[in-house]
This record gives sequence, C-alpha cells and structure tokens, in this order.
Amino acid sequence: MKRVVIKVGSHVLTEGSEIALERMRALVDLIAELIHQDKEVILVSSGAVAAGYTQLELDKTKIANKQALASIGQPYLLKLYQTKFAHHGILTAQVLLSADDFDSRRRTVYAYQAVERLLSSGVVPIVNENDVVATEELLFGDNDRLSAHVAWYFEADILVILSDIDGYYNKDPHKYSDAIVRKVVHNIEDDALNSECTPHGDFATGGIVTKLQAGDFLLRRGSQMFLASGFNLSDVKSFLLDKIHKGGTLFKRKED
Ligand code: ADP
Repeated sequence: MKRVVIKVGSHVLTEGSEIALERMRALVDLIAELIHQDKEVILVSSGAVAAGYTQLELDKTKIANKQALASIGQPYLLKLYQTKFAHHGILTAQVLLSADDFDSRRRTVYAYQAVERLLSSGVVPIVNENDVVATEELLFGDNDRLSAHVAWYFEADILVILSDIDGYYNKDPHKYSDAIVRKVVHNIEDDALNSECTPHGDFATGGIVTKLQAGDFLLRRGSQMFLASGFNLSDVKSFLLDKIHKGGTLFKRKED
C-alpha cells in the first residue's frame, strides 16, 4: 500500500467545544510515521465548523452561520495542522473540493495533477469540502463520500476512515450493548445503504450510513476501505504500519 487517504471525523477532532489537540497530535504523528515509511498520505479532515465555533459562537443550526463558521474554522484548523506537521519537517497544503470537481473529467485531471505534485514533493494535502461557497446540490454534505471520491480519483490504494466508532457493527453499538463488530465486509446490503443517517455528536454529519456508502463506492470499483477508531489509533497503526489486522473493519471485495 503506497498511497493512503485518511479521513478523520469531526467528533474525533473535538472535545466539548474545543479542538482535541492531543488526538490531532497523535494523528499527525501517525501520518508522519507513514511518510517516513515512504507512503503518500492525503488527509481529509472534517472539523472546520467545530473549529470555527471555538472562535465565535454562532448558532450552527442556520446554514449561513455554518458557512461562516466553516470559513473561520478552516484556516484555523489548517494552522493547527501546519504547526504540528512542521515538528516533523513536513509541509501541508490546503485542497478544497466540491462534488462537481469529480463531475467533469477536465476538472478532475487538474485536481489530480496538483495533488500528484504535492505528494511527489512529500507534502500532505489536507482536503475538505468547499462548503463555504458551494450550493447545496454541489455538496456531498459529509466528508465520508468526498473521501471515497478522493481515494478513487486520486488513485489511492485504500481509504481509512477514523471515526468515533472502532468498526462496523451488526447494529448501532451506542444503542445495543450486544452489538458485534464485523472484521471484514465484502458487500453492503441495499437496506443498510439506504437507512436513516445516525450521526453521533453535535458536529457529526453522516453517521454510519455515509461511511457504508463510501465503502460501497470503493467496493464496487474493486478498491478497499478500513474503518477504525480515531480516539485510539492502535488498530489503524497495526493495520497500516505492521500490516496486522487486529481491530477495525476492512471493506474489501472477496477474492475470486
Ligand atoms: P464521525 O463524526 O466520525 O464521522 P458519526 O457520528 O457521523 O462519526 O458516525 C459514527 C456513528 O454511527 C457511531 O458513533 C454510531 O453511533 C453510529 N452507528 C449507527 N449504526 C452503526 C453500526 N452498525 N456500526 C457502527 N456505528 C453505527
């Protein structure tokens, strides 16, 4: 696995109404380790609205306020990442995308070329949805599906989603204490893909459904996705650094 897209959810990056700096540092350390192992990493980071809210408490139920918070939070979040990556001597870049960047081949090629150049220069592109100006129909609305597109069109070997949950269960583990985690998933049932979104937390947007949609998008194309905890990085570390699948759910086509 040479090229990895890592998507981190807003719940992982925030603690109450603050940015969870320790968790962010742990994530940056992991990415730095991957880069030192000669891997290329694209980070898709949520958390702009939450980061904006730490600076200005606007009512985030209103769309214009959310857009304002995202525009305040995005540079703030990037500054935090930039400082943390700088400790490892790694440069970061901001890449803002929206759904229509993947609709037109010409636009996708331009974005691809820019990202290629960044990766070959050892830079970590930090991607987010350009939700400050995009109109609703051009938005994915959640970074899970955006990150699946990023992984596919930018030719990554795997998408890693770091969430507040440590895997995909047979039912919502926050509601059912007897829920069982699935280790490997080869295909996702239509019912699961079309069920109601169940985000967990104030700033979360997608819930498990958008993660399953991201997984389905990649499975159909023969690619793969790994869902693991962003609170405790030990499973993702073993998986990516030591190639040992301890915890977390791997979405991968059944080999013929
Ligand atoms: P993030 O902010 O990391 O994107 P979300 O809160 O949007 O995370 O989505 C993860 C949440 O989805 C979990 O915390 C859990 O409550 C919920 N969920 C619902 N059904 C399941 C399931 N079958 N397996 C895992 N999580 C589930």
